[in-house]
Amino acid sequence: MLSRDMWHKYAIIYSLDVETFMDGNNDGIGDFKGLSQRLETIASLGVNCIWLLPFYPTPNRDNGYDIKDYYGVDGRLGTLGDFVEFMHQAQELGMRVIIDLVVNHTSNEHPWFHSAQEDPDSKYYDYYVWSEEKPEDADEGMVFPGVQESTWTYSEKAGAWYFHRFYKHQPDLNISNPDVQEEIRKIMGFWLELGVSGFRIDAAPFLIELRGLDAPKDTDKYQYLKEFRQFLSWRKGNAIMLAEANVPMDKVDEYFGDGNKLHMLFHFMLNQYTFLSLVRQDASYLREALKNTPDIPNIGQWAIFLRNHDELDLGRLSKEHREEAFEELGPKENMQIYHRGIRRRLAPMLDNDPRRIKLANSLMLTLPGSPVIYYGEEIGMGDDLSLSGRSSVRTPMQWSSRKNAGFSSAPEDNLIRPVIKDSEFGYKNVNYADQSRDEDSLLHWMRRALRARQECEEFGAGNFELIDVQESAVLAHRCWTDEGEVMAIHNLSDKEVSITLNFDSKVDHLLDVLGNKLYKPEDGARKLTMEAYGYHWLRVI
Ligand code: MG
Repeated sequence: MLSRDMWHKYAIIYSLDVETFMDGNNDGIGDFKGLSQRLETIASLGVNCIWLLPFYPTPNRDNGYDIKDYYGVDGRLGTLGDFVEFMHQAQELGMRVIIDLVVNHTSNEHPWFHSAQEDPDSKYYDYYVWSEEKPEDADEGMVFPGVQESTWTYSEKAGAWYFHRFYKHQPDLNISNPDVQEEIRKIMGFWLELGVSGFRIDAAPFLIELRGLDAPKDTDKYQYLKEFRQFLSWRKGNAIMLAEANVPMDKVDEYFGDGNKLHMLFHFMLNQYTFLSLVRQDASYLREALKNTPDIPNIGQWAIFLRNHDELDLGRLSKEHREEAFEELGPKENMQIYHRGIRRRLAPMLDNDPRRIKLANSLMLTLPGSPVIYYGEEIGMGDDLSLSGRSSVRTPMQWSSRKNAGFSSAPEDNLIRPVIKDSEFGYKNVNYADQSRDEDSLLHWMRRALRARQECEEFGAGNFELIDVQESAVLAHRCWTDEGEVMAIHNLSDKEVSITLNFDSKVDHLLDVLGNKLYKPEDGARKLTMEAYGYHWLRVI
């Protein structure tokens, strides 16, 4: 196989929620029609893959992650026809599309759950996880501590308790039931036929957990991942699965297998240590996290991100480090959530300092893996802490300084969520149209950086090695393939530092890819002066 066939190693992924991106019919809710109108803007950023958050019919009590029909488009967002039209246009612009596969649970309004509750003899009863008695551990293991009270809820209709790892309106599917596995394959097959290039697997560790199930004790739960992968590969050879799996590094092997399970995992640990390093202005945490990242199969790839539609989860840091990160990035109680995370976007967390925002994005684009950008981050959008839970970071895209941020011309009260209006991050101050016209804007920097990233594909597809620089504030690394070599150097501190790059390979010239300067190292001295929060991407030529 030629390496180019592994497109996910060259992917630059842009994640968005249709309902908050662009409203095409002016009812106040984003939709596929609006999204299709804005595809050129996504493509012009340098993105080659769009990840759509759930758009299926839903009661929408968990941002669409509560699904009542896996084979449709929620009426508020358009029709299946609009979806196909969107797919066609995305492909015309050279962008792949991956979609959320949310099969750990359904909505309690899904017809399967209705049938299960109404008739214990129905085949749908065993689609879910039941208990006659209230299990002893019913009050443990909540995903949303402080919001969710239990993981088991009594159904009056069924006369039994059902398991729900998430909210009580999201009963867990029984993965060990072959009929459920068959349903999952059918759902995947359906969307593959409509042209998607793969799936972001929601809550992967919970999807395969066997808690509360009567599965035989020797069941290998990771086997399910292999079976889904086999099905996927039969149906569409180059389709991928990207898992949301915030798991310890010693479990990573189970998810990638020997290249026969999942293709991609979000690197949650690296994400948390990136923020810790930024907070402490000390790259040694990042270096440790990179050293502790296990080798993965050749076909495997890490998804590298800064922010997403959920909280910034800091649960894998030590208590002391987490408190320090809270203090710096989200000191007020209403900025924190679930005792483990921060419900803010990147720019507010970094005090809207353009140097630090670019530094963080530069790290995301050069750490080994494929970057995943959350919509709005390309213009440095803020958050709305007056909204509950994770809605704070799910406000409408700020397109322009016109009414409702150019997102919709509906009356303001009809908007899916209010647009941000505060003086610093409000849409009059932070919007796509203004930044498009301003060469010094974050948007222009992101476009340049993403184009540069496309030219430095070694960061995604190459081998990786840390470079010793004898300076704890600086992270330096190199990535290479048979065809080329690039380096990235980041100064996390607010002070200028001088470093010496210590590496073995012979170097005549270094081209500064972002700055377009040529360095000629003197006698192998390889000395560099890094400005405060400075970064360099260097191509060896
Ligand atoms: Mg609409």
